[in-house]
Amino acid sequence: MSNSEPRALRVAIIGSGPAGWTAAIYAARAMLNPVVICGIQPGGQMTITTDVENYPGFVDVIQGPWLMDQMKAQAEHVGTEVIHDVVVEADLSSRPFRLVLDSGQVLIAETVIIATGAQAKWLGLPSEQQFRGFGVSACATCDGFFYRGKQVAVVGGGNTAVEEALFLTNFASKVTLIHRRDELRAERILQERLFANPKIEMVWNTGIEEVLGTDAPPGVRAIRLKNLETGAVSELEVDGFFVAIGHAPSSELFTGQLDMNESGYIRVVPGTTSTKIKGVFAAGDVTDDVYRQAVTAAGMGCMAALETVRLLAEEDHEKAHHPISHAEAEKIGTW
Ligand code: NAP
Repeated sequence: MSNSEPRALRVAIIGSGPAGWTAAIYAARAMLNPVVICGIQPGGQMTITTDVENYPGFVDVIQGPWLMDQMKAQAEHVGTEVIHDVVVEADLSSRPFRLVLDSGQVLIAETVIIATGAQAKWLGLPSEQQFRGFGVSACATCDGFFYRGKQVAVVGGGNTAVEEALFLTNFASKVTLIHRRDELRAERILQERLFANPKIEMVWNTGIEEVLGTDAPPGVRAIRLKNLETGAVSELEVDGFFVAIGHAPSSELFTGQLDMNESGYIRVVPGTTSTKIKGVFAAGDVTDDVYRQAVTAAGMGCMAALETVRLLAEEDHEKAHHPISHAEAEKIGTW
């Protein structure tokens, strides 16, 4: 089939993290022949995580990329088609929905499961990227365990930064939270817990200039700070540096088409994965700004697939008992 010829699908799943693969496994086992469009970072955020110790079912430490390979293999094994491409255009204005891929391929899907995830925001310093995975992390839940008895710093002033700082006190001997202003935007209750914790020290009105480390073995030894009021530059010795300046959901494709909160997370009907458009579901980090775990994303992927299966079954039943008119059939034929 040429790229220019539109392909009709029962369900298109956009994104290949835990939500996407789990949705695919369930949809494939329901004989919907799902197609997963992998996106720009196949496997999603899990592929930039190393040791995973909290995904249920594994006593030994597993690797994030390995877990994603397993999910993909399972999805393919039960009948998922994988497309290594990126959706560049999504028209949800009428059903079936129209997706255009970077290759030019057009997909016409009766249902769409959006599982495009989110990306941690980074400061944008070259040294931050140089030591990513070697002392610089954007995920305390993933990497905090490696800093038992060590000194770490967190940058940020929102809920994530405060939660990460609090979480890190379970392991680290000292946690320094660095914020660019003189007040946090995190919720009051989190702030109270933060200020009450003797292991945490606050550094206000301060920016991060550079991450300082060693090449062999690669690792962080300090961060260079700049007081934004006085301009004074100083060094803070740390073994680990956590960037917690927010996550951005990958939802730009759907701006103006789906309801989103002020941070761009797609809104779903509470307790479901249904968006405001019938036949469009959202699962995982693209809709979840609270839990953001692989296992919760997988759970939402399962929900999205089950809701898809139910919707299509209802519609199939309706069509079987109330066949569409010739005029309607002709209209569908002009996809
Ligand atoms: P956020 O609320 O957007 O906060 C980001 C923080 O990082 C802000 O304090 C911001 O500073 C700082 N920041 C941003 N860019 C920076 C930069 N380049 N350099 C230094 N600092 C920078 O992000 P979040 O904390 O990840 O939270 C995102 C959303 O998820 C929020 O809606 C939050 O409520 C929600 N969330 C909820 C929970 C929960 O309910 N338990 C937990 C986590 C997150 P300024 O304050 O100066 O702008």
